Amino acid sequence: MVGGGAGADAGIDRVLWTEAEIAARVSEVAAELAADLRALREPAVVVGVATGAFLFLADLVRRVDAPLAVDLVRAESYGDGTESSGRPRITSDLKVDVAGNPPPTLPTRAVEDIVDTGNTVSCLIAYLEKKGASSISVCTFLDKPARRTANFQLVGDGKFYRGFECPDSFVVGYGMDYAELYRNLPYVGVLKAEMYKKDTSN
Ligand code: 5GP
Ligand code: MG
Ligand code: MG
Repeated sequence: MVGGGAGADAGIDRVLWTEAEIAARVSEVAAELAADLRALREPAVVVGVATGAFLFLADLVRRVDAPLAVDLVRAESYGDGTESSGRPRITSDLKVDVAGNPPPTLPTRAVEDIVDTGNTVSCLIAYLEKKGASSISVCTFLDKPARRTANFQLVGDGKFYRGFECPDSFVVGYGMDYAELYRNLPYVGVLKAEMYKKDTSN
């Protein structure tokens, strides 16, 4: 049963993707990514966006048999609510030099939990470009195209990879939170509306 007890799933209305479905799909995305990375002449940098992408990033890179560096940035656009503020910020810096030392610049894959309005990814691409990345791909676990308002541009020979297309509902689990909870759920689910109906933030 989902959402009935006092466990991590308290408040979950329904499951959208089970742990097994996620594992199968992440393996497919990893295979696609690995084939692309093995065709490159230099190692890629995989940049995960904390905190939401931490499980997807960990599962993905373990399945990619190609040389790569892993780094994290933090991007924040949500408060504790379910609507993006529309003003994302990168609030922690990259450690890996994507501009290359020495050049050429390193091909960069930005790994996100979910692309919703597209504002965060746009902001991230601008940030990575400013850091000197000349090829920027985006690899998102979920894509919610129904809510897109920002049309982001990939850079160089960048590609868009996605796990699943997500319906227009607020989802949690597999890294994604509501008010910092639910990230540890191994599946993705939809929250019961009463969990956030009193929310007036953002
Ligand atoms: P965007 O800037 O594309 O509107 O939103 C991107 C970020 O908002 C995502 O990386 C994610 O952290 C958060 N977000 C968007 N939709 C959802 C959702 O349905 N559930 C959760 N938990 N976070 C979301
Ligand atoms: Mg995110
Ligand atoms: Mg969040």
